[in-house]
Amino acid sequence: MGVASATPTAVRHLPAVALWREGDVHLFDCGENAQMRMLQAGLKRSKIQNIFISHFDTDHYSGLMGLLATLQLQRREIPLRIVGPVGIKEYVEWNVNFAKLNLGFELHFVEIEEDIDSQIVVDEEEYYVEARPLNHTMFCVGYRFQEKDKPGKVDAEKAQALGITEDAQFKALKAGEDIELEDGTVIKSYDIVGHPRPGDSFAYITDTKYCPNSVKLAMNTNILYHEATFSDSLADKAAETGHSTSSDAARVATEAQTKLLVIGHFSARYTNPFVLLREARAKFFPVWLATELRPIYTNPSLEKGIVTPKVEIKEITGTTGGKSSTKRKPAGNKNKRFRKRKASSDSRGRRESRDDYSAPPRRKRRTDQPKPESDNYNNSGSTRPPKHITPRTPFDDFDRF
Ligand SMILES: [Zn+2]
Repeated sequence: MGVASATPTAVRHLPAVALWREGDVHLFDCGENAQMRMLQAGLKRSKIQNIFISHFDTDHYSGLMGLLATLQLQRREIPLRIVGPVGIKEYVEWNVNFAKLNLGFELHFVEIEEDIDSQIVVDEEEYYVEARPLNHTMFCVGYRFQEKDKPGKVDAEKAQALGITEDAQFKALKAGEDIELEDGTVIKSYDIVGHPRPGDSFAYITDTKYCPNSVKLAMNTNILYHEATFSDSLADKAAETGHSTSSDAARVATEAQTKLLVIGHFSARYTNPFVLLREARAKFFPVWLATELRPIYTNPSLEKGIVTPKVEIKEITGTTGGKSSTKRKPAGNKNKRFRKRKASSDSRGRRESRDDYSAPPRRKRRTDQPKPESDNYNNSGSTRPPKHITPRTPFDDFDRF
């Protein structure tokens, strides 16, 4: 919801990431505007279960009080858990008292001490959250949200054949217990229930230099959200301010073998953060730029048009090489043709008043067009033409396709 670093820009807001799971929302940092971004993203603020604050640089928690006030106005009744470094409780309670917010719901605080190595800050039936200190100019923690393994699938047919009918029996088997039938037969859980399915995981690591704890938190995650405030050319500045470069983020991703790296927390100096993406991609793949209001799925196959990286990079950077050079040509021409057509319709009146000097070449170009395209499809052996997506904003270019 916010991918800026300390200074917001016209298009980037202060840090906040929402994890949406089974209808619940878990917020990681809560910069100014987080609640507005939630509205725009279509996430219900009433569904927030946990708020995790990484540290007390203002940009990371400045939206917290506004959000609490809104929750109160919405007459929230269910408790809300707020996790953060020691001091978070005092900060929130002081502000609640000062503003005389009469909260109709309970706040449960979990405070993290500076001397911890690691701490399970939330432990629920289906998931837990681990925190570890990072390496910033002040105490800052990273989080790992981990779903617990889900029980394996029950082979219903086999169970029925063995004479298991009651719900309680199924439940016990699913929980890994063996059961005894009335006739004395013992049914082993592993005969009926498949392997447990591993839960998904997400790591949120921001405002830190490279540090081993980042790698531990991100180990084998489905998605790692890692800050990349600076490009490699500003590595000195990154070290001085306790931040990461895009290469640092890629290093953590590589060492942790995460399945997908998403970089964010961009310095305001990068009006176009592609440079950061390019650097990170040189060292790790897949990497995406975090883009506000665009969801990222734990299961990448749910995304449309993003699992074909070859097309995107070559289309956009304009680098040609090998096979793709022939592939790019029709798409580029198509694009140009589209623009020209648009321009000509805008200035139709002007052109018609002149002689028809420009008309014949235009018509000719049009009739030329389909030929190279169809050739290209045949050459590539594909039955479907390659999908061409026109980037709409600078931020759309890289992150999805
Ligand atoms: Zn920050």
